[in-house]
Amino acid sequence: MAGENMIAQVSDPTLHGVAEKVQQGQRLSADDGLSLYATTDLLGLGRLADMANQRRNGTRVFFSANQHINPTNVCILRNTCTFCSFARMPKEEGAYTQSLDEVFAEAEQARDMPTREFHIVGGLHPKLHLSYYTEMIRGLRERHPGVHIKALTAVEIAHLARIEHSSTIDILLALQEAGLTSLPGGGAEVFSSGVRATIAQRKLTGEEWLRVHREAHQLQIPTNCTMLYGHVETPEDRVDHLLMLRSLQDETGGFLTYIPLAYHPDHNELGEELERVGSATTGFEDLKNIAIGRLLLDNIPHIKTHWPMVTPFLSQLALAFGCDDVEGTVVFERIYHDAGAQTSMQLHYGELLDLIRGAGRDPVERDSLYQPVRSTFDDLPATWMAPSAQTTSDPVSVV
Ligand code: SF4
Repeated sequence: MAGENMIAQVSDPTLHGVAEKVQQGQRLSADDGLSLYATTDLLGLGRLADMANQRRNGTRVFFSANQHINPTNVCILRNTCTFCSFARMPKEEGAYTQSLDEVFAEAEQARDMPTREFHIVGGLHPKLHLSYYTEMIRGLRERHPGVHIKALTAVEIAHLARIEHSSTIDILLALQEAGLTSLPGGGAEVFSSGVRATIAQRKLTGEEWLRVHREAHQLQIPTNCTMLYGHVETPEDRVDHLLMLRSLQDETGGFLTYIPLAYHPDHNELGEELERVGSATTGFEDLKNIAIGRLLLDNIPHIKTHWPMVTPFLSQLALAFGCDDVEGTVVFERIYHDAGAQTSMQLHYGELLDLIRGAGRDPVERDSLYQPVRSTFDDLPATWMAPSAQTTSDPVSVV
């Protein structure tokens, strides 16, 4: 593909300049980003993004054997993040907070599985202090020494700093000392202050989110980054958001992957206001956001599709649109299922292999830091591969 004339690959003449830049490996501008959002030439856009991806990652597609853990859904911002279906007030029906023993019991699922990562995020609980999280991380490390801990969004870090009367950098240091490996990318939503005033009024600002990630990178804690799309944001808001991520990456190089997150409208106030049910985004929009992420974020190594939000089917298609990571096994996905996601709560190791191979790509199991763990898959235990052997009921039932 590298030798192909990319201008010939796009049918929309407004993309010719972008195609030329992509072919020559030049950086795209904000105006280029807006042209990409405006085009209906989805296949042309996909070819450009695929070229940019294959230049970097070849035909490899990464996945992880991971397990999501959500220790609490109690959140002090429950009434102001209008897009969120997961959070509850402390005494509200469906509210839960796990003891450390319950977290450790849930993590036991990893014992017989190839799990390499615990992904831990939850609500901003008014009474769960830093020690709850440091003891959790230490306890998980002791019980599962080979498993990376990717835990707590920038929003949770800022919340802990507030209730501990500390700084975000000291919170990060304490978590790192306990065994934290990396930070997830949630809480970024869209950085525009106007959008945040509508969907996440009391959440930390975009500048604060970026500052926490900058601090993490300074401590050699790699992080992910995200953008929540499909609600009230404009194409300009999306492009500004992506360029702010790109600018921080120029400065620190600490982002591992970018994950566009599709807004889900069920069981939340914003969905009611917008009068949307079931799905707020379309397959066209989902693929566009993957491809534009790959093209604008020329300095972030990986682009991940979050299959619980957009379905495994669309995630497979995303592999031809600039995406090189299909998330992982997940095991218990609650946040988007509370918002109406109809996908299953987990994908099995063998299903991920089939999904990637079905797109003509080469699967590589990775750890949290994108170090390859395995790229040949002969003679794996049947318990890793067979859905019936892996299906587990969720120990926490929210809705
Ligand atoms: S999005 Fe996060 S911070 Fe906002 S209410 Fe939901 S759990 Fe709380």
